[in-house]
Amino acid sequence: MLVAGAGPVGLVAAALLARSGVPVTVFEQGSALSEESRASTFHPPTLDMLDELGATDPLIAQGLKAPSFQYRTKKHGVLAHFDFAPIADVTRHPYRVQAEQSKLTRIIADRMAGHPNFDLQFDSPVAGVTQDASGVEVTLDRGGRRETRRGRYLIGADGASSTVRRALGIEFEGFTWPDRLLVISTPFDFYSVVPELCSVSYVADPVRWYFLLQIPGLWRAMFLVNEDASDERVQTHEFAQSLMATVVPGISNYEIAHTTLYKVHQRVAKSFRAGRAFLAGDAAHINNPLGGMGMNGGIHDAVNLAQRLAAVWHGKADDVELDRYDRQRRLVTLETIQKYTIQNKKNLESTGDEFRESLRAIAADPARTRDYLLRVSMITTLTRAQELG
Ligand SMILES: Cc1cc2nc3c(=O)[nH]c(=O)nc-3n(C[C@H](O)[C@H](O)[C@H](O)COP(=O)(O)OP(=O)(O)OC[C@H]3O[C@@H](n4cnc5c(N)ncnc54)[C@H](O)[C@@H]3O)c2cc1C
Repeated sequence: MLVAGAGPVGLVAAALLARSGVPVTVFEQGSALSEESRASTFHPPTLDMLDELGATDPLIAQGLKAPSFQYRTKKHGVLAHFDFAPIADVTRHPYRVQAEQSKLTRIIADRMAGHPNFDLQFDSPVAGVTQDASGVEVTLDRGGRRETRRGRYLIGADGASSTVRRALGIEFEGFTWPDRLLVISTPFDFYSVVPELCSVSYVADPVRWYFLLQIPGLWRAMFLVNEDASDERVQTHEFAQSLMATVVPGISNYEIAHTTLYKVHQRVAKSFRAGRAFLAGDAAHINNPLGGMGMNGGIHDAVNLAQRLAAVWHGKADDVELDRYDRQRRLVTLETIQKYTIQNKKNLESTGDEFRESLRAIAADPARTRDYLLRVSMITTLTRAQELG
């Protein structure tokens, strides 16, 4: 079995396959695992899944448990505060864990090092893919040398600009927002100045919304940048300070650990399967990060696909089993993840007046609160995938 990409999705799929007796080779273009600061929220069902790999406890040890989250507006203050306790009967982890995705990839790579079915090869960009009735062949570009490797199946988990997706000729349908996302990290202690703050806080505002999230040692503040300012100007210290100054009136001149600028997309591949090759994670779908559904959804793809591939590999299921991966994961991505993340963005851009009414109605009704928590935790997407058969 071949996997392109050693991000969280490729490594989860590879580790699950290797542990179920399928030999896997992972090709990673980088010379080490990525250090990039991106996903930092792991949802309850994802933590349940990662437990199977023994990765959840180390992740908790290196991260922060977030048992609740809140919505605010600059105008009204706290609109609603939700605790995950009402869904403790359907998950062993009724909380989010905030830890960078680079912690997860290192935990998995360390745990799998030396496993006889697990081979992780760095400096190995996949440059091309061909397939026939019995297998898939990838071309690797190793320092100007072209090499080929063959396997029975290929998982393309090589991120948003996926070479595998392009090589398979699969369209990446959707759109790119005109706005960019600026993430600013600071060691500033927001608890000392913002009353009733919790470690995940979405603050709606029609002019300048933001999202505050605590990770070990730092807070990350996310802003949408829709000015005409160039990428260069947006990434200056002064620009970051001007955004941070909008967070708490009267506080400015923050210590800034780092800033990163991202483009924001909503795209889903037209198919998650082409013969013996599959797409998973960002290679298959990308969305805005509000709600933390990108990597989590990608890990859910990896688990769904790895179980099916292992069953087919061991002769316990036939090929039609693999079509279910495309049907289930692609449809839930379109029906739920894309829809929720777009709605999350609209809510944050609003005055909060309507949003406040809807949150109040949810918070006042225990049945609606539970449904809401199942949805934001992504448990609903997993239930829906099962219903699709
Ligand atoms: C600011 C920000 C915040 C986010 N926050 C969250 C969050 O809190 N929760 C959440 O769920 N999601 C979040 N996301 C989204 C999340 O980061 C991605 O969904 C996640 O990284 C996808 O994982 P992946 O393994 O599919 O792809 P990637 O993490 O992109 O990994 C792909 C890997 O493939 C390698 N690669 C690329 N091309 C090739 C090739 N040709 N051959 C071999 N290897 C290759 C890359 O080097 C990389 O190691 C956030 C994103 C951003 C930008």
